[in-house]
Order: sequence, then structure tokens, then C-alpha cells
Amino acid sequence: MRCPFCNQDNTRVVDSRPVEDTNSIRRRRLCDACGRRFTTYEKVETIPLTVIKKDQTREQYDRSKIQDGILRACYKRPISIEKIEEMMDSIEGEIFHTEEKEISSTKIGEIVMEHLRRLDAVAYVRFASVYREFKDVSTFMDELKKFMN
Ligand SMILES: [Zn+2]
Repeated sequence: MRCPFCNQDNTRVVDSRPVEDTNSIRRRRLCDACGRRFTTYEKVETIPLTVIKKDQTREQYDRSKIQDGILRACYKRPISIEKIEEMMDSIEGEIFHTEEKEISSTKIGEIVMEHLRRLDAVAYVRFASVYREFKDVSTFMDELKKFMN
């Protein structure tokens, strides 16, 4: 993104956070050429982000896919849709925190799990079991033990 002060194209994001109820990300940017800072508001759907899947294929970032996974994990749990959307916003805040144009699906999974872990233990384990494709029971038990401690 170009600097509004000196018009150079070497700015970088120093802080990034979701703006409530707008599906936008507020970004503080720093221009490496003139050292000035400025703020941009960017619609999440206009920020290009490619997700690298486990098999190394790539696809366009899609909020609804992540939300679907979370909704499935929260099925019949005492969690309101408002809570889920609120969590989704802060998850996206983290996903778009850096200005990387690509993110691995594993990294997204880790971010989602971290948020779910704080929200609801059952939803977390459900999500984790799908996301990490547990290969054996002991890995699954390790996950469960984290709650017991
Ligand atoms: Zn500048």
C-alpha cells in the first residue's frame, strides 16, 4: 500500500485489529521511506489472502468455511450465535494481523483452537479432533489432559 505522505510503496503493518460490527480490519501502517504512520480501514473480503492446505494446494480465504467448522464444533453447546460471531471477529483479527498474502490452514487451525479452548472445552476437542486428524488415541488423550490440569 502506498504511503499518503511520500507516495512510496514500502509501507508495512504495525498493528491490526478488527473493527466491531463492520467486518473491517483497522490497520496502523508505518512507511519505511519517510517513517510516518497512518491508519487504514480495510474490508476483510477485499484483503487478498490465500490459504495453503496440507496437501500444498491453495485456495482463497473464506470466512464462512471457518465459521461452518466452528458452528459444527459448537453444535448443541450452550454458546450463543453472538458469542460465536464475536469469536470469529477476533479470530479474523489474528488471521489478518500480519500482511502475509498466504497463511497455512494449519496456522488458521491453531488460531481457531486457541480461541475455542477458552470458550468451550467440548467444542474445542471436537474441533481439534477433526482439525488435527488425530492419528492415534494417545494424541487425543494429550489434548484432553490439557483440560484436566
Ligand atoms: Zn512515506
